[in-house]
Formats: sequence, structure tokens, C-alpha cells
Amino acid sequence: MSEQKIVVLGTGGTIAGKATNALDHTGYSAAQIGVHELLASLPGWHDGTSAERYVVEQVAQLDSKDMGFDVWAKLALRVSHFLAQEDVQGIVITHGTDTLEETAYFLQALLAPTKPVVLTCAMRPATAVAPDGPQNLLDAVAVASSSGASGVTVVCAGTIYGAEDVQKIHPYRLNAFSAGDAGPIGFVEEGRLRLLRNWPRGQALTLVAGLADAAWPRVEIVMSYAGADGTVVRALLKAGVQGLVVAATGNGTVHQDLEAALLLAQQQGVKVLRATRCAEGRLLPGANDALPVALGLSPVKARIKLMLALMQDR
Ligand code: ASP
Repeated sequence: MSEQKIVVLGTGGTIAGKATNALDHTGYSAAQIGVHELLASLPGWHDGTSAERYVVEQVAQLDSKDMGFDVWAKLALRVSHFLAQEDVQGIVITHGTDTLEETAYFLQALLAPTKPVVLTCAMRPATAVAPDGPQNLLDAVAVASSSGASGVTVVCAGTIYGAEDVQKIHPYRLNAFSAGDAGPIGFVEEGRLRLLRNWPRGQALTLVAGLADAAWPRVEIVMSYAGADGTVVRALLKAGVQGLVVAATGNGTVHQDLEAALLLAQQQGVKVLRATRCAEGRLLPGANDALPVALGLSPVKARIKLMLALMQDR
């Protein structure tokens, strides 16, 4: 059998970013350099084997703060296409850090791949004196090439995180991600994997074929805080919202005035899900919960779960 291929899909982000000053780590433009060029700068890329081993495609070129449903649909279709090729071993996706956890969870919840799909990124632009992107990319390729690897993961600063648990927790430092108390899946050290726990698993949804033309349901996030009175919920009802995630306090508690508005929304047919605004841990459901809980999902991931559930139910 010919050598198994690694697919590398580019979507932009700081890993593809350029600054005019090599010392500038914040005043740069993301998504400037193509994924082919990023790979060409890696050691060993020109040794003659790369062309056969890698399939490289620029799926999008954006700052991931601007991620939207059109790019998600395009990306999911390309990932799904390549996963179905027998000679593809794994997929690497270069992505901005800002919404990395959302794209990772979206792909895991939708596709639950049994091959590795590894998202990677950078906190410094490619033009920095010491950019972190090249090593992250090499580490992501190491994970995607590893036999036994599966599911959607994120690789950053030598650490492998599962799509469900990973969260950006720092706006600046190189190891900007955490998996909270779930912990990382493992580490990449000198190209080798040191694993601590199982790869992500799940059940794929049957939505992917229709994604390109799908109408995405409007699902919004509201937050519970001192003085939260439900005005936002009432405005969203008027705007035709179909789902609401409440970023609740602690173990899913919600200000009584906001809760009253959410219960009313639920009675009117809007799907409501409670997630915690705590950075770590998971919600423990109660026996008589009027509003269901998103367990360990953060509010942004609970929103994706709800959107996919609404689409699946159609
Ligand atoms: N704004 C950038 C992005 O998410 C930040 C980064 O990649 O680190 O695309």
C-alpha cells in the first residue's frame, strides 16, 4: 500500500499572520500567509517526500474572530471528504486561536471522526523573532501521523487537548489553552506523543451533506449576573431566536428575573440550555431541573450543541 497521506487545511489565524515589526506580537494582521507557504518553511519540507505525503488546501483565510457558518460548512465538507479517503491517515487544520475551541467542538460533535483531526494555531505572527506556529504545526502533524490517534484535538505549545474540554484561557502567553480539570490528552515531545488519557469519541450526526445549503438556527448566549433581568431574552424572542444558552453562575444557578424570562421563552418553544460561566468543572444536574444543563460544555460549545440539535431535529 502507498504511504498514508496527511491532509493540511488552512483557515488563517495568527499562525498565518504578518506584522511590520518582528518584535510586535499584537499589532499584526492575521491570515496573510497561505498554508502552502507555512508548510514550505518547515524543516524537511523540501526533502522530496513531502509532495506525495501531504495534500494541502487553503479552505479559508480569515481572522478566526470573524468565523462564521459559511466557513464552518465548507470546512466540515472538506474534512468529511478527506476522512472518507482510504489513503488519508489524518488531517491538520491551521486556525486562529480566538474561536479554535468552537471549530474543534463543532467538528467533533458533527463528525466524531475515527481518524485524527488536529487543529493548531499560534499566539505570535509568522513574522515574529521567535514564532510559535512552526513548532505547533510540526507537533500537529506528529499527532495526525500517529497510529491510534483519533477524534478532534487541538495542539498548542506541545500539549494535546480534546475538543470538548479545550478552552482559550489566556490572551497573550504561548500556552494559551487549557482543558480545565479534565486535563490534556497528552504532550508532543521531540515529535513523540506521551499520552495521559483516551482520544475523543462520539457519535457522528447525519447533517454534513446538507450543510452547504442549511439555514442555521438562531441560537444566542445570555449571561446571568447581578441585576440580570431578562430584558435581553425578551428582545431576542422578538427577533425570532430559536435557542438560548444561559451562561449561568456556579452549578447552573440563574438570577430569578432572568430565569423567569427563560422559562417563558421555553414555554413558547425556544430550546434553552444552561451552561456554567465557571472556567472549570461540569454542571451536576438536579432531579427537578426546569431548564436542562449542558454538563461540561462551556457556553459557546453548548450553543453549538443546541444549533446542531435543532438542525438534526428538522
Ligand atoms: N485573532 C486571531 C485569530 O483567532 C488570534 C490568533 O490566531 O491567535 O485568528
